[in-house]
Amino acid sequence: DKLGVALVGLGSYSTYQLAPALQQTAFCHLAGIVTGTPSKRSKWQQKYNIDSSHVYSYETFDQIAEDDAVDIVYVVLPNSMHAEFSIRAAEAGKHVICEKPMAMSVAECDAIIGACKSAGVKLSVGYRLQSEPYTQEIQRLVRENVMGNINFVSADAAYISRGNPDQWRLNKALSGGGALMNMGVYSIQSCIYSCGKNPTAVSAQEFSTRPGYFRDTDETITAQFDFQGTTMGHMMTSHNANVNRLYGSGDKGWFELNPANNYGPLSGSTSEGPLSFPHESQQKLQMDDFAKHILTGSPNLAPGEMGRRDMVIVEAIYRSIREGGRRIALDLPERYGIV
Ligand code: NAD
Repeated sequence: DKLGVALVGLGSYSTYQLAPALQQTAFCHLAGIVTGTPSKRSKWQQKYNIDSSHVYSYETFDQIAEDDAVDIVYVVLPNSMHAEFSIRAAEAGKHVICEKPMAMSVAECDAIIGACKSAGVKLSVGYRLQSEPYTQEIQRLVRENVMGNINFVSADAAYISRGNPDQWRLNKALSGGGALMNMGVYSIQSCIYSCGKNPTAVSAQEFSTRPGYFRDTDETITAQFDFQGTTMGHMMTSHNANVNRLYGSGDKGWFELNPANNYGPLSGSTSEGPLSFPHESQQKLQMDDFAKHILTGSPNLAPGEMGRRDMVIVEAIYRSIREGGRRIALDLPERYGIV
């Protein structure tokens, strides 16, 4: 039987990516919705044939504990609400998928991980690329040492933000930060899986060319990583540039993805030639991988510890910027696979 997923927050990602993907998944399906906007209820119920008994508001959400049709709660709210709803979901006895960035701070990540452990439920972060074939090929090349030691990695993830300067992504109280919290986690992830190691230190710089628009959050950040003295890494993230790529250079060859982290199809090549994989919805692959993890014990490709690890790095980057670009040492497990 397919596991039931309830989406919490019916904004653009739920509407245009997750709900359509849940029509294609083999191991889970859309079973419930949680929304603070009453006008969305009947639209979603009709479109996806959801009975009123599986529809919740933020206030009635905890009653989901009694809803046997829902196995997984997927938190798709502004970042400041991730911890609260992930913890309430765990306390209701539901498995949890929490969107990226996992939370506002490492302390919040710890609280989510603790709540899921206490409740005996599984937890993953919405890192769809961990289930994506081009990304998995980069991970395989690195794991099997095909390019030799990767000496240099570079990752950029950015788009140009326009429109309402008060949108939640540009409001620090709701987002926790700007480009770094939004696209920056992709740059961090790309650098790490492009060399297969966690960084031991980071230095970072911040730039702004539109301070009137980016009043409250970071516009552009660059950072340099030391990966255990054996790989140098560079990342850029911005709300004021269009770039989306990763590059790795090893003793025996190189690889590149461009685009590297949009919804796909991704594209890329290595020193051996072009890469080519069939395209499927990344969100479909991601949610099926998590459902299989619950049903069969297959690996959790994006566990909470991975989201926490990335938040440790985010906090170190912001700290380096505050301290004038100082090198900040990181105390993380060596290999990223075990997190
Ligand atoms: P959105 O603005 O389109 O939707 C946010 C939803 O939260 C809306 O339904 C809104 O009504 C609700 N909400 C509740 N309280 C709110 C408040 N105080 N302010 C604003 N909205 C409030 O955002 P989105 O793009 O759907 O992003 C939601 C989450 O998903 C974020 O954490 C984001 O980082 C993540 N996301 C991930 C990906 C991915 O590729 N993994 C892509 C897009 C978004």
